[in-house]
Amino acid sequence: MTITPANTQKKTDLLAFTLPQLQQWLVECDEAPFRAKQIYSWLYQHLATDFSAMTNLPQALRQRLAEEATIGLVIVRSELHSKDDRTRKILLELADGKLIESVLMLYPPLGENSPRATVCVSTQAGCAFGCTFCATGQMGFDRHLSASEIVAQVLFFARELRAVPWTAAGLPRSAPIDHITNIVLMGMGEPLHNYDNVLQALRILNSADGFNLGARHMTVSTVGLVPAIRKLSQEPLQVNLAISLHAPTDELRSQTMPVNRKYPLQELLSACQDYIAATKRQVTFEYVLLAGVNDTAEYAHRLGELLAPLKQYAHVNCIPVNATSASYKAPGPKAIRAFRDILFEHGVSNSVRAERGDDIAAACGQLRTRFEKKRA
Ligand code: SAH
Ligand code: SF4
Repeated sequence: MTITPANTQKKTDLLAFTLPQLQQWLVECDEAPFRAKQIYSWLYQHLATDFSAMTNLPQALRQRLAEEATIGLVIVRSELHSKDDRTRKILLELADGKLIESVLMLYPPLGENSPRATVCVSTQAGCAFGCTFCATGQMGFDRHLSASEIVAQVLFFARELRAVPWTAAGLPRSAPIDHITNIVLMGMGEPLHNYDNVLQALRILNSADGFNLGARHMTVSTVGLVPAIRKLSQEPLQVNLAISLHAPTDELRSQTMPVNRKYPLQELLSACQDYIAATKRQVTFEYVLLAGVNDTAEYAHRLGELLAPLKQYAHVNCIPVNATSASYKAPGPKAIRAFRDILFEHGVSNSVRAERGDDIAAACGQLRTRFEKKRA
């Protein structure tokens, strides 16, 4: 993982390729295309970081790959583990010096739920959409991440868990987790603004010859880019969709989420309805709770009325805001309960996201902001 970009600028980054593209590249290099499957297995099943480990490849090919190719181009600048070690966060430096964050969240088995290891992936350096409660939004947009830079974040944590499987402290019966079970595109950036690279990364991670993570274990979260939601509904790769709703009226939503002026609620909900009709899949609506702003009984009723027509296809995830600035506060448990009960009255299923990793600045954008202040 920790590859110095010094002499790697002109090398071909293998993490950018799907299997057919890797075959194609080998053909262009006058190598046998069947080697692609072997290399893919080394990259995504053995999680190799070095071509010398690829022992079923001829020595000459290993040598050539070492000279002409790389396995990702990112450097880990900092890694933090929460006190309970259920949340881990890394700060990655990209080849051009840009900084991004990724988070690993570990969930021990609970009742009938099997244990989970979820990577929260960044898709852009910064973000162009400027939501007022979001630390990334306040940074502005730097650039899109490449498919390889997205894949590399998942591989980093996959290798870490493979090397040292994780067991919940104080839970003797919990089996160790040694692999990534889920990925959520909820780190820095807007995934559907970087549509092609994101889909390429998801196809790579989905490949049965490689990492083999099922599409149902992948979640794309979007600020609500209507044309891209419609495009996603037509993809053969059927991932989970989460919509950042955060307000049930145009007036309020436009205040906290400037994108609402371009794609107002009616258009967004209509795209969600068409998505549901095309995919027959449930959509999650994320609702960041901002005390005194969007968490009143009136807004709960408005939200219930807005989503009730979607019936069992809508699920609301209430997320107490992770305060990144003094302007917003999370409501207390009583207010959250009251908000949720009103949604239930409207027949809208909902849950609340447990807060995580407060001690390591887990809200995306916070670690980079802190690192940059220190560096300055
Ligand atoms: N750009 C995409 C995905 C990245 S943000 C999107 O907006 O959906 C992932 C989720 O975190 C979104 O629901 C976003 O609204 C939420 N989020 C942003 N800032 C937050 C904060 N300070 N506290 C809690 N959730 C936040
Ligand atoms: Fe961008 Fe999502 Fe943050 Fe909004 S919430 S600024 S879309 S990353």
